[in-house]
Amino acid sequence: MPEPERQPVTRLAPSPTGALHLGNALTFMTNWALARRLGWRILLRIEDLDGPRIKQGSDGQAIALLRWLGIDWDEGPVYQSADLAPYRAALQSLAERGVIYPCTATRREIAAALSAPNAGEHELRYPGLHRPAGGRYRFDADAPPLLGDDGTCWRLIVPDEPVAFEDALHGQYSVNIQQQVGDFVVATKAGLPAYQLAVVVDDARQGVTQVVRGDDLLDSAARQVLLYRLLGLGELPSYTHLPLVYGPDGLRLAKRHGDTRLATYRDAGMPAERVVGLLAYYAGLTDTPRPMPADAFAERLDPGRLYREPVRLTDEDDRWLRQS
Ligand code: GLU
Repeated sequence: MPEPERQPVTRLAPSPTGALHLGNALTFMTNWALARRLGWRILLRIEDLDGPRIKQGSDGQAIALLRWLGIDWDEGPVYQSADLAPYRAALQSLAERGVIYPCTATRREIAAALSAPNAGEHELRYPGLHRPAGGRYRFDADAPPLLGDDGTCWRLIVPDEPVAFEDALHGQYSVNIQQQVGDFVVATKAGLPAYQLAVVVDDARQGVTQVVRGDDLLDSAARQVLLYRLLGLGELPSYTHLPLVYGPDGLRLAKRHGDTRLATYRDAGMPAERVVGLLAYYAGLTDTPRPMPADAFAERLDPGRLYREPVRLTDEDDRWLRQS
């Protein structure tokens, strides 16, 4: 008898940083609507390992805001911080194969070692300062702890070759990770699994088959694909990286564009249907913004024709949102 087909699984994965804004909302709405249209199971995963960016109590706020928009889920919330054992096991397996190594370099040392540092860039390419000679680390009893807060991070030995994967909107996408960021961090100096590792371990163990998120994470996907393969985690999820929302000046939506946090709109008494209506307009589901509930957003969404252009929040949109 043929195996019954497994139900696809997607995840909503907010980082509880207290800043759920219109941009995140568009991605979550689209992910949720795709799932509801295509019969995917939805898991809510709270990504609360991201050190200093995490704000106390923001998980509850993020959950309340998703609900306010009309988004629901079938499972969760699951908190990454609840159990570090699966991440530790993955690190252990990488360490035993000698493909990760400890590094104590400071940001300043890394910058100094770069011949042409990219001033102002958030992520410096790691120039291999502590990479073991011979390209393999000898993991033994003297090695620093994998998740210790002793100022050591662990980095992956990244091959100098392209890593390619398929994205629903970007097609075949390929990144030479070594040239882009070098040996990236898989466990942080604070003794926590790094985002790239945590996401891969979780997507695999939670059976996630559909990853839908903003295209700021497209390059990260290559790092995750590499980890998927190194950890032998089987079939990759399908990736869909959606365009981001930008401010009137063309820069990525941020504080400088005023307060576009959902909490601010909600607390000012704006009905969620106005926000959802604007998101529907952004997603190309209507020609003009008009209030609608989440269900109507899902009904209108054509899974085969997702929006492909970056979205720009205009002053007019902002005025439209604020009139009630
Ligand atoms: N937690 C991440 C964020 O809020 C999303 C990670 C992911 O979808 O892989 O940006």
